[in-house]
Amino acid sequence: DYSKPFENAPDTDWSLRKNAFWIIQKIEQEKSQEIEQIPLQVGGDLILTEDLGQGVDPSKNMPLYQYSLANLELVEKALDVAEAAQSGWAARTIEERARVLKDVAVEIERKRGESIAVMVREAGKAVVEADAEVSEAIDFANYYAESLSWEGMLDGVEYTPLGVVVITPPWNFPFAIPCGGVLAALMAGNTVIMKPAPESVYTAWVMTQQLWDAGVPRDTLQFVPCPDNEVGRSLVASKRVGAVVLTGAFETGIMFQSWKPDMRLFAETSGKNSLIITNAADPDQAIKDLVKGSFGHAGQKCSASSLAILEADVYDNAAFMRQLKDAVESLAVGQSWDLSSVMTPLMVEPESNLERALTTLDEGEEWLIEPKMLEGNPRLWSPGVKLGVKKGSWYHKAECFGPVLGVMRAENVEEAMRIQNDSDFGLTGGIHTLDDREVAVWREQVEVGNAYINRPITGAIVRRQPFGGWKKSCFGPGAKAGGPNYVSIFASWKQVDAPK
Ligand code: GLU
Repeated sequence: DYSKPFENAPDTDWSLRKNAFWIIQKIEQEKSQEIEQIPLQVGGDLILTEDLGQGVDPSKNMPLYQYSLANLELVEKALDVAEAAQSGWAARTIEERARVLKDVAVEIERKRGESIAVMVREAGKAVVEADAEVSEAIDFANYYAESLSWEGMLDGVEYTPLGVVVITPPWNFPFAIPCGGVLAALMAGNTVIMKPAPESVYTAWVMTQQLWDAGVPRDTLQFVPCPDNEVGRSLVASKRVGAVVLTGAFETGIMFQSWKPDMRLFAETSGKNSLIITNAADPDQAIKDLVKGSFGHAGQKCSASSLAILEADVYDNAAFMRQLKDAVESLAVGQSWDLSSVMTPLMVEPESNLERALTTLDEGEEWLIEPKMLEGNPRLWSPGVKLGVKKGSWYHKAECFGPVLGVMRAENVEEAMRIQNDSDFGLTGGIHTLDDREVAVWREQVEVGNAYINRPITGAIVRRQPFGGWKKSCFGPGAKAGGPNYVSIFASWKQVDAPK
């Protein structure tokens, strides 16, 4: 019934003891079992290969499991299967495909505890974060199931699927993001080849199995981990692929396009997001929201606030800085299965930008809180806050993707906005102020896809905050994930008209 308002799946209520017991049990169960070598799934066959990839346990930075990797032949075979299956899948009506997606939503809800446990184990996700990710995946399923029907109400528009769609998801949202991409492409009548992120193959595998169990045919969705060499390239750049979905670094998008300039690429890429706090802000709320947006999932979100831009009186206010320091220092750093942990192990060992951000200061910068590596685990870090980040400096511009917050000082709100917009990227951005005039100017001028007022700048919710950026944070038409026109980008529109 499409006239009913959309309802988002609720997260688990962790204030109830029974829910805490439930998840602790699920996590223990998950950790007690060994992960068998993960196969590929091509043409309905589960295939174990000799060429293996290595999954890592972030809690100890040790090997956790092995997964099978495709070779050139298997990629070709998967493409054959996907092409052959496409017309059959597209022949199903919109209602039939929507039914499958609705069943997927039910199945994902049924496996919520298991999926949380898998993310806690493989992705080092804190329980609350993993739980929200399951809710988001359910929302994608229910929302995309309905979205073509609304659009189908346009007179005379018929959708022709693009064909075979390749999904190349990120590791930071290892469940919800691949799930959303797959389901949007399927809803529009495409067949899908999923090439999971090498860092989170296990979570992607568990999620994909849930889709099959719910009724997505195995030839319609295949699971094909590829090494990032000519094999991966042969899939992504294949002439037989109608569209590629990427969530990842801007450079990866550029690389994909260099392989196949006429590629239809839908990508949500890097961000360097900031939150402005003006003299007219409520400081308590601003600090709370800043800290949540900067250090949730240890800052490993495209949407994270890695910069705070403070108006001069806020920046110069010792009480504000002390309060910020206290708030960040009180974040519990620990293992993901510990329900009290907020900052959990990183999904990758810090290198390049993140390593520089965690370990060095540029001219004029100083640590309010210096980040420290803990327990000899290069993936476990306490949060860092650097003050005195200068306009145009390296940290102002570079995406770092981890538990560091840089703080900048602006003379006034106008300057704060110039600093915020002075970015190659335009994913999320925020302002904290109780002055309506500041809000009005800001919302008109800020150059981001998701603009947040007096709240954290992470945590977009399907339909309520469709997600996606501007500038170098986006490739393609800029349709937002979890938004009204997302499914329809996976089809060519045919406007049919005939004299009555
Ligand atoms: N949608 C997520 C959020 O709003 C971010 C997704 C990402 O990091 O790619 O926080």
